[in-house]
Amino acid sequence: MTIGLTVLGATGSIGTSTLDVVARHPERFRVVALTGHSRLDVLAGQCRRFQPAYAVVATAADAERLGRMLADDCRQTRILHGAAALEEVASLPETDAVMAAIVGAAGLPGSLAAARAGKRILLANKESLVMAGPVFMAEVARSGAALLPIDSEHNAIFQSLPIGFSGNFEKCGIRRLILTASGGPFRNTPREDLARVTPEAACAHPNWVMGRKISVDSATMMNKGLEVIEAHWLFGAAAERISVVIHPQSIVHSMVEYEDGSVLAQLGNPDMRTPIAHALGFPDRIDAGVGSLDLFAAGPLAFEPPDLQRFPCLALAFQALEKGGNAPAVLNAANEVAVAAFLDGHLPFLSISEVIADALDVVEAAPLRDMDDVLEADRRGRAAARSRIGPTH
Ligand code: NAD
Ligand code: MG
Repeated sequence: MTIGLTVLGATGSIGTSTLDVVARHPERFRVVALTGHSRLDVLAGQCRRFQPAYAVVATAADAERLGRMLADDCRQTRILHGAAALEEVASLPETDAVMAAIVGAAGLPGSLAAARAGKRILLANKESLVMAGPVFMAEVARSGAALLPIDSEHNAIFQSLPIGFSGNFEKCGIRRLILTASGGPFRNTPREDLARVTPEAACAHPNWVMGRKISVDSATMMNKGLEVIEAHWLFGAAAERISVVIHPQSIVHSMVEYEDGSVLAQLGNPDMRTPIAHALGFPDRIDAGVGSLDLFAAGPLAFEPPDLQRFPCLALAFQALEKGGNAPAVLNAANEVAVAAFLDGHLPFLSISEVIADALDVVEAAPLRDMDDVLEADRRGRAAARSRIGPTH
């Protein structure tokens, strides 16, 4: 029996790495649907290669263009468009597993549809959990969906936890989760120089090749902040049970510390195909196309505490987690607006954290009970950030 796979965000960094792994195992996987928001040429190439039953694009005009590009090659591929189609292909009966690899809040409806439909969810879109943690996890519990983390740190923690871990730290003798962070491209940059960094410099990550939004998140260390909140929801970890350690080599992908003093870690080359293949094959181990870790070439492995003065976004994320309710959704929304403004050259790098801090201050605290609350928190976070940045965003 092959596994029917839908890839949401197939044209992005995680999406293309996913299809690279899938192509190595034609006997295991059948691609049901591929979605892409831009880069139609890449999506067309993927459709020719994998012959999905469905392809999803943003607009009717894009659907027409893709249809023309595929006219002779993919007669059985139905082309859909719009946000609702993302939910549709995430919940098709022939879809067994959904790779949720859309970036940002736009990924939430598709991830949530997969959760509601009880699919195996391979979750790269961390923003889903940051925005809607309690609502998302309640849907997963209700439907019995399997949730497998793609984020390399969370995948490492998943691999280092006891099999079948249910979130009970005391019962399993777990002290804390230790998330590693590379520190990003500005790990050693003095604060005064951070004021002048360009989008290009922020997107040039030393160890990982990623989409532009997560690259900026890594440069501000908001990525680690989002990951702290993600770890809270995935593993039921209270904020004080989550530590962050800078590890510039990105070889140790994260760790779990137990009551007896043992620390279990997952190591590997910094290549997202490893966690992707782990989740695609789980519980089997399958080839990811990733070479052996050369421990001699990896050099000394260093560990340092994070500098919250130079990287206030990490502290803001811890604060939002402790505050709870709508605060993480507000943080996420303000971050998305601020990062987009920075990438467009409308906001200095150091102002990203100021915009987020301001949004957390001005948006009134509220509970997060359902999707209406999530969308309201998202809307308010964006509005607060926009009013601070100015009319262009
Ligand atoms: P990317 O920018 O390379 O790709 C994003 C994908 O989402 C593309 O296919 C794009 O077409 C699609 N998309 C963008 N906006 C959309 C919209 N409004 N509606 C529908 N589709 C839309 O991003 P990425 O680096 O692949 O990251 C994807 C997700 O995975 C993010 O949530 C990121 O935080 C997470 N993640 C990425 C990495 C990595 O190494 N790239 C590692 C861990 C987690
Ligand atoms: Mg990560």
